[in-house]
Amino acid sequence: MAPNPLIEAFTNLVSRIRGLNYIDETTLKEVLREIQRVLLRADVSADVVSSITKTIEERFRQEKPPQGITSKEFLLYLLYQELVKALGGEETPNVNINKKPYRLMLIGVEGSGKTTTAAKLARFYIKRNLRVGLIETDTYRPGAYYQLKQLAEKINALFYGEEDSRDPIAILRHGLEYMQRNKVDLIIIDTAGRHRNEEELLREAKAIYEEAKPDEVMLVIDATIGRQAAAQTEAFMKYVPINSVFLTKMDSTAKAGGALTSVIRSGARIKFIGIGEDIDEIEVFNANKFVSRLLGMGDVDALIEKIKAIEEEDKIMEEIEEGKINLLTIKKQLDSMMKLGPLSKIMELLPTSMLPMQYRAVMLDEGRMSSAQEMLRKWRHILNSMTKEELLNPEVINASRIRRIAKGSGVTPKDVKELLNYYQLMKKMVNQIKKSRRRLGRLVGE
Ligand code: GDP
Repeated sequence: MAPNPLIEAFTNLVSRIRGLNYIDETTLKEVLREIQRVLLRADVSADVVSSITKTIEERFRQEKPPQGITSKEFLLYLLYQELVKALGGEETPNVNINKKPYRLMLIGVEGSGKTTTAAKLARFYIKRNLRVGLIETDTYRPGAYYQLKQLAEKINALFYGEEDSRDPIAILRHGLEYMQRNKVDLIIIDTAGRHRNEEELLREAKAIYEEAKPDEVMLVIDATIGRQAAAQTEAFMKYVPINSVFLTKMDSTAKAGGALTSVIRSGARIKFIGIGEDIDEIEVFNANKFVSRLLGMGDVDALIEKIKAIEEEDKIMEEIEEGKINLLTIKKQLDSMMKLGPLSKIMELLPTSMLPMQYRAVMLDEGRMSSAQEMLRKWRHILNSMTKEELLNPEVINASRIRRIAKGSGVTPKDVKELLNYYQLMKKMVNQIKKSRRRLGRLVGE
């Protein structure tokens, strides 16, 4: 996405937070006010803004930053999380076509970018090896027929339209027959975006809907209209059930925040965004990706990854402390370690206090770090070759299983045994810790 005013405002906000020496009562209030200003400028409605900043403030006061994370990094993380939540959460929309032929009907007002979007979608699915056909039913705007026909030729999609017809339903029927004959997998139906009045436009959309019996109705909305997107969505919803939304022109507006949050609040699901005039400038909408781009690429991404891995690590530690240890615990631990980067960095983050002194010394020895890294890589391969049963109940792993696992992961049986020894050691350690805790508990009269 090209740099746009929205991204600029948010990246400035992030640099401001990063530039703080420490966060006290005054700076916290200031930063929260700044977040409010930026969101309001992005056209997000006042109540949504207030709920986002209130939650950030509460969480900042109540939750403890994970080990190794500064309070300003934590504030950034909370900002990221609450924005993702306001944009519909972490889940990525499902854009798979699981029925053939699949009928996708596009509706939206003129100028929203509907015709361009029809071609963008066709190209998106052609690239995924589907046979795609476009039907133009707009008889109101004279240019629509040629515009879509030309775009279809450019991207090698089938096209059906009737230049001189005034009957959208007849065009639709003929178009559907033509597409079925040509064994098209995905039929995209473009509709009119303007009429003598709004009422007529909506009635026509309804008539086409009833005739086409589409598998999905996608509403195309211009993001530059900001918060008004909700009213537009609701107007269409009264006539035709809306299954998904395509927000166009996300590249050229500072009001995208308003468009996104208001559409989400109206209950519609945003599936795609348009990020430029070019036919390839289409993206599956992903709140995580959108927010991390908003807050300034890479930088925040790395922080989020780090915090997530630390949280995962903490969860595993909790499980271990509860005495639930098996090879799956070790596998999860290795996976999250790998995400955190080189071992030497991880050691700064790990709650090493859990480990006995002599073990800590070995782990922290720089010279042994790289061979340990190598060993961990091997262990991950080994764990990936194990069955769920073996991971959950390592006691079942006998000599023949060891041979199978070694073969599957390209290591020697000795390597597998080493991992199993490590597991036994961990288990013993955990039990010892639990025992000494119990003893301590008795001493202090718990
Ligand atoms: P329709 O009247 O709804 O069919 O709209 P058109 O497809 O003719 O598009 C209207 C204008 O919006 C054209 O100039 C398109 O190039 C432009 N447009 C469509 N999608 C995008 C987008 O994602 N970003 C930008 N910057 N322009 C877009």
